[in-house]
Amino acid sequence: MLWRWIFWATIVIIAISPLIYWSTGIGQNANELSTAITRLPDGTLISSPKAQAYHQLSLPMRLERILIYPVVLLAFYFSGMAVALRQRIDMWLARRSPALLRRLSQRLPPRLTLTDLLTIGVFVCLFNLALFSIYLPFNFYRGFIVAHQFGLSTQTLVGWFSDWGKSVVIELLIAVATWTTFYGLMKLLPRRWPLPVGGLMVLFLFIFALLTPIIITPLFYEVSPLTDNDLRTRILNLSQRAGVVADEVYVIDASSKTTQVNAYVTAFGDSQQIVLYDTLIDGYSPDEVEVVLAHELGHWYYHHIFLSLLGVGAVGWLGLFGLRWLLDRIWPWLGLRSPTDIAGLPVVLALVFLANTFALPIENGISRFGEHQADVFALTISQKSDASVSLFEQLAEQNLSIIEPPAWEKFIFYTHPSVAERIRFAETFDND
Ligand SMILES: [Zn+2]
Repeated sequence: MLWRWIFWATIVIIAISPLIYWSTGIGQNANELSTAITRLPDGTLISSPKAQAYHQLSLPMRLERILIYPVVLLAFYFSGMAVALRQRIDMWLARRSPALLRRLSQRLPPRLTLTDLLTIGVFVCLFNLALFSIYLPFNFYRGFIVAHQFGLSTQTLVGWFSDWGKSVVIELLIAVATWTTFYGLMKLLPRRWPLPVGGLMVLFLFIFALLTPIIITPLFYEVSPLTDNDLRTRILNLSQRAGVVADEVYVIDASSKTTQVNAYVTAFGDSQQIVLYDTLIDGYSPDEVEVVLAHELGHWYYHHIFLSLLGVGAVGWLGLFGLRWLLDRIWPWLGLRSPTDIAGLPVVLALVFLANTFALPIENGISRFGEHQADVFALTISQKSDASVSLFEQLAEQNLSIIEPPAWEKFIFYTHPSVAERIRFAETFDND
């Protein structure tokens, strides 16, 4: 009863929290604020008023998400709703052509039936759709309303909803495939499942990273070759100096959605792609574009993407053994039919989310180290410390970054060194 109450309370909080953020008036007044960074006589930089206002609104949203999300998952389970949902799906499936199901099931190994797989698939679908709907107002407020109030988004309403629809479909497909495989292998190999599940997880991490620029990015953006020949030559020369063999530079039409700036180099084996946001080409000098690209080439040079996939894979794999250990002990207490009961999914998700959250400071510490390495590489190869400083300032103005966040916030959330640190480093970097 208490858990049911907690569940509905959290749903109400998620649903009405956008109204609370709205009622502060911070977003409505954002338009009038300046995006200019102030430089004090002693060289200290002060975040723009707009960036500070944005931070005032985005930090509580970030904390809300981290604190409330695991509670929703746990309350959904402990209120008995997850088990009730699984029972309903079981009953519903039992009524639909059981003869056909039984005949098809005969082709599967004895421990796994087709009904099992269907129950898992339907459960994952319904559960994820519910989560998407619960978070729709929150995500719309954060991703559309606030982003427009602060001039970070150029998307139309239709464009936003069509992107949202696409990501719902993609994430649903991935979730169904992931959890059906996960629970299917658990049923087949009750003792040894972490081995194959971990292997598949690492494999999919790599395949997904490889396919994202080829399949996912074109679903959201138009990709075309860079037409500016001077810039193209400069970029190709720079990448050659870094040891990347690329013969084409691509541009994506990010300006149709956002004012934010980015670039990336994807390199797996022989398929090396350099991709720039059109917002970068339009708003920055060729020297600054070179610095951005040199930074991305730094990630490539140090194999950061490869290493991070490897690290995530290895830690995730170990985590699966931890999960087995825990599930084997707590499933009777949870009231599950077995450790492989799909009704336990919300608990598994909450555990994974909590583990990820606690790992965040370590993960981000490693990330900040890698970003600094890429900055050093960029300065060394481009020899452009002035352009670096002006780039970091302009990026901070445009992306509404806080110049020097509080230490605790940097420790938990920051994937990059602060703007102040990056500028200080570029200023003191010896070009020789
Ligand atoms: Zn980077």
